[in-house]
Amino acid sequence: MLNWNDSIQVLPRIGKATLGHLKRLGINTIADLLYYFPYRYEDYSEVVSIENLQAGQACTVRGRVDLLNSRRSRTRQINLTEALISDETGSVRVVWFNQPYIAKTLQVGDWIYLSGEVKESDPLQFVNPNYEKAQRSLGATVNRQTSRILSVYSITKGLSSKQLRFFVNSALHYLDKYPEFLPPEIIQKYRLMDLASALKEIHFPSSQTEANKAVERFKFEELFLLQLHGNRIRYQLAQYATPAIPVDEELSKEFTASLPYQLTEEQRKSAWEIISDMKEPLKPMNRLLEGDVGSGKTVVAALAILNVLAKNYSAILLSPTEILADQHWKNISKLFAKYADFKVVLYTRTQRFVAQKDLVQELSKKEILEVLNDNSPKLIIGTHSLLQEAAEFHNIALIIVDEQHRFGVKQRDEIKDKAGLGEDVYPHFLAMTATPIPRSLALTIYGDLDLSIIEKLPPGRQSIVSQLIDPNDKVAAYDLLRQEIQAGRQAFVVCPLIDESDKLGVKSVGAAAAELKEIFPNYEIAILHGKLKGQEKTEIMARMLRNEINILVSTAVIEVGIDIQNATVMMIEGAERFGLAQLHQFRGRVGRGEHQSYCLLLPSDKISPRLEMFVKSNNGFELAEYDLQLRGPGEVFGTNQSGMLSLKLAKITDTLLIYKAREASQFILQKDLKLAHYPQLAAKLANFEQLNALQ
Ligand code: ADP
Ligand code: MG
Repeated sequence: MLNWNDSIQVLPRIGKATLGHLKRLGINTIADLLYYFPYRYEDYSEVVSIENLQAGQACTVRGRVDLLNSRRSRTRQINLTEALISDETGSVRVVWFNQPYIAKTLQVGDWIYLSGEVKESDPLQFVNPNYEKAQRSLGATVNRQTSRILSVYSITKGLSSKQLRFFVNSALHYLDKYPEFLPPEIIQKYRLMDLASALKEIHFPSSQTEANKAVERFKFEELFLLQLHGNRIRYQLAQYATPAIPVDEELSKEFTASLPYQLTEEQRKSAWEIISDMKEPLKPMNRLLEGDVGSGKTVVAALAILNVLAKNYSAILLSPTEILADQHWKNISKLFAKYADFKVVLYTRTQRFVAQKDLVQELSKKEILEVLNDNSPKLIIGTHSLLQEAAEFHNIALIIVDEQHRFGVKQRDEIKDKAGLGEDVYPHFLAMTATPIPRSLALTIYGDLDLSIIEKLPPGRQSIVSQLIDPNDKVAAYDLLRQEIQAGRQAFVVCPLIDESDKLGVKSVGAAAAELKEIFPNYEIAILHGKLKGQEKTEIMARMLRNEINILVSTAVIEVGIDIQNATVMMIEGAERFGLAQLHQFRGRVGRGEHQSYCLLLPSDKISPRLEMFVKSNNGFELAEYDLQLRGPGEVFGTNQSGMLSLKLAKITDTLLIYKAREASQFILQKDLKLAHYPQLAAKLANFEQLNALQ
């Protein structure tokens, strides 16, 4: 007997090579194997009598082996196994290529099933059909490789769907217990197939209807776990107290009026949503602010921070890089210069500054810890490592994380422990991201977060000129590059990964940089990729900022949100490999200053409608939504974006199922938030969260 988590090695006929192939597909355990679902089916359930066979038909015959012969072909070095199969109505020829063992497994006189396509020839014949001995005593239902709906798997070299069906069948046969984790009341309420039947039906459907039901059960599973994850965080958070920050209307109005521009409608709305969230003493804010690059999220965050400081609390703002932290510090300390009581602290690995009024001071490590420890209201800006550097904080009522759309519960708890508010008090939490995740998707994958969206840029922005470059005519792109650099501007060149083995993108970036060096021998060209250390990356970005680099060639890792106002060209090699939302983020790296900027797409081969759509639209949300219809979320946002989980079966368009899964998760959690009565579900959820890096 087998257990769910046993290694697949215990299955019959799994040798070293096969083990390796299965590993490559991510299949290590029985559970992995059974959750390796087919991506389509072929229907061979129709058993036809031989006299009725027609060319081109996919079907099954049941017959007796009358002749069987295996030989090497004279002309080519291949083995041919030929047979003549007969039933009561006639005979049909069969030929198999390079499967000499068939002549040993079958014998003249055997009754067999053959499933395959009948090829147009005279006389008709089957070429490479699936075959299986007919086991009369057990009836036709035990057939696994013929005369039924057959599952087709996405496979790798050296492994066939046939083998996978064999392994799956053994696993199902020897498996002792199915770890059903869906609560019985949920299975009943939503009329879902139980796990054991669903696994059998998804791999070996008894009919298309049953296969569909099985698929629906597994889709539900994924969505249910996602919703359970999100809603559990939501409900747990709601049990904590939090600093109540009443809205200071006068201060907010005065601050807004002092800006050199008017807030857009969406900025106002978002700011209002955030500030209103913080009024509540019993429910810590947990919100995601989404807005395109340059949409003005910083000032919205500043308004929230201001309200916090006005109530004598402090706030923390975390950036992904030191350079971004520095930019935030400069911008926000300017915005807050007129509030004499408020300090704006910058604390990163290399920088320690405090700004108060128009006074800026550089501090020693000791001095900065003193500032952090005093009781004055302050904003502390740093990178994510701030939490490790400074042991403790005081009175932190608000934590903002910039350029990140997924912030783990663990990280949040760490911050809570250091916020200095007390055991059961949680600070308010705001994540900001430029990734345009459409509302529909966000609701599915971020069930724990409330959402504020700034979709449009402030008025009066120069639009970036986007162009598709014909792969046979790159000269146009190089001409523009030269023209801009001669005018003193800078350029980014982004490259995709060439192949899977090149996960760090070193190869592609190296090749592109070498090509550019040949064309522009006098320009300073630097490269940036995943293999460089954090400090090396920071240095390169700093040189870019000082205009010491003309062209920066990088992988998709280039720092999100960085503001290089002098950069006017974004050139993207192999553009078809990126999701539109991702391309849009690259585009947002230019056009941040006063100069007209350009985004050049260089597809590797032909120009696709997707890329044409990109050139036409400047709305990240619209592009993401468009791509989402064509591709999955993983591909739209790029797999390197953490927090974008890969749903195996469920789609964002499965609206009704998403709704049911949400309802079901709320139903269970309202009864039993700790899932104490659902130990299997709790374990499955923990596993799911770990697999998708959701903790
Ligand atoms: P992001 O959302 O990418 O973080 P920022 O907050 O850095 O964008 O804002 C980009 C620029 O837009 C800043 O220079 C900011 O001063 C300016 N800005 C923000 N809001 C407005 C507005 N309503 N009108 C004009 N300019 C604005
Ligand atoms: Mg920003």
